[in-house]
Amino acid sequence: MIDTEALVEQFGLTACIQCGKCTGGCPVSPKSALNPRALVYQMLRGEGFELVSREELWDCTTCSTCGLRCPKGVKAVDLIIGLRGQWIESGKIPTTLRAPLTATLNQGNPLVLPREDRSLWADGLNVKNVAEGADVAMFVCCENAYDPRVQPMPRALVNLLRAAQVDFGTLGLEEQCCGSEIRRLGESGLYEYLRDDNLDKFRQAGIQKMVTTSPHCMNVFKNEYAGAGFTVEHYTQMLARLIAEGKIKFSKRMETVVTYQDPCFLGKQNGIYDEPRAVLKSIPGVKFVDMDRSRERSVCCEGGGGRMWLEGTNNKVRLANDRVAQALETGAKVLATACPFCFLTLSDAVIATGHENDLRVMDILQIANEAL
Ligand code: SF4
Ligand code: SF4
Repeated sequence: MIDTEALVEQFGLTACIQCGKCTGGCPVSPKSALNPRALVYQMLRGEGFELVSREELWDCTTCSTCGLRCPKGVKAVDLIIGLRGQWIESGKIPTTLRAPLTATLNQGNPLVLPREDRSLWADGLNVKNVAEGADVAMFVCCENAYDPRVQPMPRALVNLLRAAQVDFGTLGLEEQCCGSEIRRLGESGLYEYLRDDNLDKFRQAGIQKMVTTSPHCMNVFKNEYAGAGFTVEHYTQMLARLIAEGKIKFSKRMETVVTYQDPCFLGKQNGIYDEPRAVLKSIPGVKFVDMDRSRERSVCCEGGGGRMWLEGTNNKVRLANDRVAQALETGAKVLATACPFCFLTLSDAVIATGHENDLRVMDILQIANEAL
């Protein structure tokens, strides 16, 4: 039984007026017992809370819609992360999380792959190490570094940065997990270790400016690494600027209709809506159409908050499948995104719904690289 009084205090829950806007906006709530309003209510009632019977806490994607919708500034997502933390502290870790958490500690990545394989994505590219001196550090992300389905994304960014004559390097084998999803799974001790170790490495390498391929890495460095001492942007911000400055020019046309999935950690959590669209619209031949639910009203793909490694209590109804249907309604042939998690969940959804021949999921990096 957990101490609800302490959580009420820690997360400022007394401000809650039980309006239900959090649950109304929660993408997971309709298909799970997860109900942020009811969760806050139970804490306020102070009747104690049995964690082990509440498996739906692991369904949360940490999209943050609940906090953004709340008129009183209550962040139910932080309460959920806090409750997950108590669960993990008590040693009752969901089975599928054990291997990713152990591998992140021992190998620096949750994909359970060797640390020494981290740079295989860059084979043959001759990317220099940022410690040799470079204007910009490129942070690759565990998913993009190891998963062959998304390894083309950092390779495309290398091409694009070279085309724009940006002086950049990577941390090579010194790069490790940013800790974003580890923190959201409630493993705060491991997150703090990764943050401190990464900050040491960034300082030793003299990093002043960073560009990330994942919105999750960008978000944690920008908003959660206190006193990081360097500026960080997502690649869509850098590309939009390089295109506007005339440093990236596209020579090929892409005659197709493209729509765009706003990654929650880029859009909702950081307000970056215009730059990805600016990059797409600058590509010759692209006809850009937004889905009805876009920008602030966009729908989560269900890949965040550690959900890449968790089954969830109801995976029969997948949000990414709905997103594919909504993309098809626009008449788009390409569903673009700017996040490895979105790319993977949406790619799986296209196959699961039998639309491989109707809709191609592409990262903006692939689209821009193909148009160079
Ligand atoms: S939106 Fe905010 S005030 Fe309304 S029920 Fe949810 S937490 Fe409470
Ligand atoms: S973060 Fe997203 S999935 Fe989690 S409770 Fe809030 S709205 Fe629901």
